Amino acid sequence: MANRFLIQAINECRSCGMRAQKEAVKVSCQFCNIKFSSGKSQYSCDFCERDWLGGKSNSLTWKGNAVCEKCGTEEAGSCVICDKIVCLSNAHNFESETVCSDCFNKKQEIVWCPKCERSFPNKGFLNFIFRNDSAVLHAAALVTHYRHTHVKSYDRACRNPSYAAKIPHYNYVDYKAKVNNCAKRQIIRAIVKHVEKNSYPETAPISARGLILGFGVLKENDDATKRLIEKHLAN
Ligand SMILES: [Zn+2]
Ligand SMILES: [Zn+2]
Ligand SMILES: [Zn+2]
Ligand SMILES: [Zn+2]
Repeated sequence: MANRFLIQAINECRSCGMRAQKEAVKVSCQFCNIKFSSGKSQYSCDFCERDWLGGKSNSLTWKGNAVCEKCGTEEAGSCVICDKIVCLSNAHNFESETVCSDCFNKKQEIVWCPKCERSFPNKGFLNFIFRNDSAVLHAAALVTHYRHTHVKSYDRACRNPSYAAKIPHYNYVDYKAKVNNCAKRQIIRAIVKHVEKNSYPETAPISARGLILGFGVLKENDDATKRLIEKHLAN
């Protein structure tokens, strides 16, 4: 029953409620050019002429472009961590670095959120990008955690175009940067509050000052975030 409901809901136009047309989205492999289904669907409503994308992409990508199953067996290079030669389907890439799936998935950091006072395991790209700087890694992971857990509007706007349309001047990139800066300031304020109340846990993976320093290294800090960081580091 739950499944049936989901299928119906997604075929329904979010603007006018009429049944929408559904068509599978095809992508072409960047190496051999073969076309295959990406798992995503394009929906269009004949009544109000709205269209949107739905479904989850199941296609393998390399440097942002699609790769077919056959080309996925080609060599991607050697893993920067374990040196093993890996194929495209078993590797991740960030800028010019390649990491194998084993190394990519093995590393997990336990991050503590000063706002909800919960610990959570952080997996994926951030662990790899910031593997040599855990304070920055924890700050970055907290921004992501905050965006998905503490701000409901972000995920909702991503999923639902008619919800996003209600946010003044909505644009995915700018909105994400704005939410990220809000998140940074809220987390820094939560850290400072703990320090003032003497409740910042000694067992926290990163010290209060270390974490604030970590936020200072992150990209796209706006003026308000920079000012807040400077103010608290000066104290
Ligand atoms: Zn191919
Ligand atoms: Zn419609
Ligand atoms: Zn590896
Ligand atoms: Zn939290």
